[in-house]
Amino acid sequence: MTSYKELGLVNTREMFKKAVAGGYAIPAFNFNTMEQMQAIVQAAVETKSPVIMQVSKGARNYANGTILRYMAQGAVEYAKELGCPNPQIVLHLDHGDSFELCKECIDNGFSSVMFDGSALPYEENIRITKQVVEYAHAHDVTVEAELGVLAGVEDEVASEVSHYTKPEEVIDFSTRSGCDSLAISIGTSHGAYKFKPEQCTRDPKTGRLVPPPLAFDILHQIEKKLPGFPIVLHGSSSVPQDEVDTINAYGGKLPDAVGIPEEQLREASKSAVCKINIDSDSRLAMTAAIRKYLAEHPDHFDPRQYLKPARENMKKMYIHKIVDVLGSNDKL
Ligand SMILES: [Zn+2]
Repeated sequence: MTSYKELGLVNTREMFKKAVAGGYAIPAFNFNTMEQMQAIVQAAVETKSPVIMQVSKGARNYANGTILRYMAQGAVEYAKELGCPNPQIVLHLDHGDSFELCKECIDNGFSSVMFDGSALPYEENIRITKQVVEYAHAHDVTVEAELGVLAGVEDEVASEVSHYTKPEEVIDFSTRSGCDSLAISIGTSHGAYKFKPEQCTRDPKTGRLVPPPLAFDILHQIEKKLPGFPIVLHGSSSVPQDEVDTINAYGGKLPDAVGIPEEQLREASKSAVCKINIDSDSRLAMTAAIRKYLAEHPDHFDPRQYLKPARENMKKMYIHKIVDVLGSNDKL
């Protein structure tokens, strides 16, 4: 048993309380590689932002859960080395699919876990979320639950259609499950293809897809039912079109990749939404930089040569999200 406290990590409780009161959101960045971890920590330290580093099932399959846990411990020490004496870093399990997995993560140093029972019948979702909450709270670990279903594909989490969260269920669900935060479905979606072209309109000037707006009316109804309760948005990458263009210009093929417009995320950040998950944008930033570098330097073969600009490009993207979209800068 390793407590996250020994690793210098923190849970989300105080962080979310301040974010809701202050009208900003905490970035939750997924990570699989050392370069992503370094870029996340550098961005958080330079902007003085709290940060959630999250681990999906795909990340554990790729990098190994033990390694990722030590990387999170390394992230805390690295932040201190970069001149941040009290970093606020959460190690979070993204889309935990069983009590056993959540327990294993809590026992191995995670400070926050998500139990995603959104595909289960309502009562079953409450029952298992509550079981996770009881174990987690005994170890001062915080729990995110999910109500409503997001469309899209993310590391082994996939759904064809979305079902918006029903505002009339949120009080009963949060009270009976005891969860600390709630992921809701208001039209965000997993992956780099969040909407099909037929769901969008096309900008006549640029020819680019314009996605349907998020269901802010549902968000506001939920806020009214649960005043001050921390709300989470998954699938909130913006799929920056300049990165998509770079990828396509250097041999990639991502036609009509589309994400959530940043103005809408900026607006959501000012509400009870206090955690916004971003994964695809980091993948795009990394791939764009690597494709460009390799195309321009066909004689280079040292991975450090192309991973360095990839890391720089991810860092630039993380800083942009923190400062220009979520507003979590200068909060340490
Ligand atoms: Zn998700």
